[in-house]
Amino acid sequence: MAIRLKQADFDAMAAHARSGLPNEACGLIAGKIENGTAVVEKIYLLSNPDQSPEHFSIDPAEQLCAVRDMRKAGLTPLGNFHSHPSTPSRPSAEDIRLAHDPKAKYLILSLAGEAPVLNAFEIVDGTVAQQLLEIV
Ligand SMILES: [Zn+2]
Repeated sequence: MAIRLKQADFDAMAAHARSGLPNEACGLIAGKIENGTAVVEKIYLLSNPDQSPEHFSIDPAEQLCAVRDMRKAGLTPLGNFHSHPSTPSRPSAEDIRLAHDPKAKYLILSLAGEAPVLNAFEIVDGTVAQQLLEIV
């Protein structure tokens, strides 16, 4: 499923990833499904309790708070994002192993190069499929 993300949210995601260096940073995305496209309307910048350059996890209390906010705003949870401080923008073996939601969009922002690179994936039963990502 194609994913549409606002430029301002992309910029906020990249700034969050940079401020988390040298560790991975993460967050959640929410919005709506419109004509077969997942339209991101709000991103939630969360902390990474793992404090690791190679792993992340989502703090359950922060997640609960974000999900409550989504409900209040009438937004659908669309998935999550995390950064790769020094590796490419594609799921690691661990990312694939821990991807349990076949409907979720997994956004990975790589800071390995000059400019941040963001790609979006769906991961179903260990199979990764890159999705069209529009930044508008
Ligand atoms: Zn990863």
